[in-house]
Amino acid sequence: ASFQRIGQTDASIQAFLTLNEEEAQKAANELDKQLQEGGERGLLFGLPAGIKDNIVTEGLRTTCASQFLSNYDPIYDATVVKKLKAAQSVTIGKLNMDEFAMGGSNENSSFYPTRNPWSLDHVPGGSSGGSAASVAAGQVYFSLGSDTGGSIRQPAAYCGIVGLKPTYGLVSRFGLVAFASSLDQIGPLTKNVEDSAYVLQAIAGYDASDSTSAKVEVPDYIGQLSGDVKGLRIGVPKEYLGAGIDPQVREAVLAALKQFEDLGATWEEVSLPHTEYAVATYYLLASSEASSNLARFDGVRYGVRADNPDNLLELYRKSRSQGFGPEVKRRIMLGTYALSSGYYDAYYLKAQKVRTLIKQDFDNVFESYDLIIGPTAPTPAFRIGEQVGDPLTMYLNDICTIPVSLAGIPAISVPCGFSGGLPIGLQIIGKAFDESTVLRAAHAYE
Ligand code: GLN
Repeated sequence: ASFQRIGQTDASIQAFLTLNEEEAQKAANELDKQLQEGGERGLLFGLPAGIKDNIVTEGLRTTCASQFLSNYDPIYDATVVKKLKAAQSVTIGKLNMDEFAMGGSNENSSFYPTRNPWSLDHVPGGSSGGSAASVAAGQVYFSLGSDTGGSIRQPAAYCGIVGLKPTYGLVSRFGLVAFASSLDQIGPLTKNVEDSAYVLQAIAGYDASDSTSAKVEVPDYIGQLSGDVKGLRIGVPKEYLGAGIDPQVREAVLAALKQFEDLGATWEEVSLPHTEYAVATYYLLASSEASSNLARFDGVRYGVRADNPDNLLELYRKSRSQGFGPEVKRRIMLGTYALSSGYYDAYYLKAQKVRTLIKQDFDNVFESYDLIIGPTAPTPAFRIGEQVGDPLTMYLNDICTIPVSLAGIPAISVPCGFSGGLPIGLQIIGKAFDESTVLRAAHAYE
């Protein structure tokens, strides 16, 4: 059914880069056989899943939507992929994204842009745009995405589905092609909150192969979806509802807060005073880490190698010039500059200090509140082509998601209305490792 649906819809949506039809059918038959023989059903038994193309899958092409990796077939599975297999989900294929997860519209894919299922003229968001569009279009039951500055939450908002960025360290990054290692986190994109809890249940947990994996007990997320939010205290940052936020988005968020009141929660305006520095801080740190992480793509070890170089330096230069797209090059140059001697103190070190201030903003609010709520993005999805020439405007789409990433805390985007026929996302932010409260509130609301 999943492949049939893809056959009907993907010529226009273009969510997939690679399909895994033969292997998926084999895996499904194998699951069927196990069941016939009296085997137990796993947590995600038989559910068709799509995987963002920066998560490595053994023997299944993994390109990060980059020309550089257009021939790369990994020799191992990422930990999350192993865990999905253990839970008996079936991998349907690999999903389109912005190249190396750099972008917020899918227009930076080296292959083709994914389109928003609600309106094919609009972007699905990014960088996990393929992951969001495929769930919204009913091609897969759920998908995995990665979120560095908003890349799960923002496309979920634009496509009218649920996207969860877990606490940094809760889900293993082993086998996730690194963009900005101190921010990257894998999470589920699903049709509803209960599904999100199921997928998180399957993929969370300590992994010795990831040095930043947290040694924490994984709670029973599913069992805590009680529908009860009575007495929850919600803080609403005034910085997330001010200038630059579309009036219809603001109205939708206020209506959602009213619904929380009706359910017995309370809310008050709070302040995250360093929000105005978050985008600049993020782009310094993320680009710096990216410039270092992407040094491994040299034409020798992975992917495509340039033809006929005169010498080794020429091999690096040509392979990287041909392999990377313009946004990736922009970030590598920005990051290399920010890390170079003489500028390090002024940019990278300063940005690290501001990151701490941003995290402290959240700590202060969480002393008196259980959750923070605001919009996921300032506007609904924009038109394809509308912002491509203007990277700065593109960067500002992440103003509401980036602070959360810098603080390393969990947040979910759930649908909260429409503007001009396009979905709006509500962002529910929690304390570190308190996914249970985030999911419980989102579940009670939806
Ligand atoms: N849009 C942001 C960026 O371009 C976030 C990307 C992400 O979370 N991977 O960096």
